[in-house]
Amino acid sequence: MNDISGKTVFITGASRGIGESAARAFAGADANVVLAARSSEAIQAIAADIGNQALAVVCDVADYDQVARAVAAATDAFGGVDVLINNAGAVEPISHMATSDPNAWGKIIDINLKGVYHGMRAVMPGMKEAGSGSILTISSGAAHHPLEAWSHYCASKAAVNMLTKCVDQEARDMGIRAIGLSPGTVATQMQKEIKASGINPVSKLDWTDHISPEWVARCLLWMCSDAADRWLGGEISLRDEEIRRQVGLI
Ligand code: NAP
Repeated sequence: MNDISGKTVFITGASRGIGESAARAFAGADANVVLAARSSEAIQAIAADIGNQALAVVCDVADYDQVARAVAAATDAFGGVDVLINNAGAVEPISHMATSDPNAWGKIIDINLKGVYHGMRAVMPGMKEAGSGSILTISSGAAHHPLEAWSHYCASKAAVNMLTKCVDQEARDMGIRAIGLSPGTVATQMQKEIKASGINPVSKLDWTDHISPEWVARCLLWMCSDAADRWLGGEISLRDEEIRRQVGLI
């Protein structure tokens, strides 16, 4: 594992679930962590619990100006951003295409797709100048398989995999590492919303079928090391037993 201590990690969607776990795991490895999400109280409470190495910045990833301001605040506080974790995401409203609300459908694209682009756009100039950086983006099995009533989610996750490839093509030579992570199903608020929908096989899964967000956080830490370089421009699946072994989960 490369040393992450003293590095600065900017995590979107850090108010709960995978993002919160990632913030705690990276802080536990002595990195500075920047928690970005819309829920001000939640990110402030988590940052206060972590201590001085954590900064909470209220930010809606759907709005580029807010993302740029949050990255500037991270740079003011810690000198730059070494790792971006594009984690913010949403799945509601789950709805069939023929009856879906076009505005609500588009909002998911604003968060899950444009939000990822906004993060990449905001950190890439600084990483280019530094000659190094990692951009890790949370993908999903839904990027590869259509799931009933998830057209917005499937389309957005497929598209962010292409953004990872684009960053890799344009910026690997500048020292920027871009990798996606498909975590499998994870025990978070998002799975509670999926269960409540009762639509498609994912909603029928038992809670014990999901992995913990701490596993995903440990994988993200591992992805910052050279050991993950084989996947630059590609996607790692945490369902893969070999990956679980390499990360030290089994
Ligand atoms: P979660 O518990 O619902 O957390 C979602 C996070 O995203 C929250 O912190 C939320 O914060 C943030 N967020 C949503 N909209 C945002 C916006 N406009 N701006 C900034 N932050 C926003 O879900 P999770 O499972 O941890 O999801 C994290 C990522 O993993 C998502 O990209 C999701 O698609 C992906 N994923 C999850 C699973 C799973 O089974 N759970 C599987 C595959 C992939 P605020 O509401 O405070 O803004």
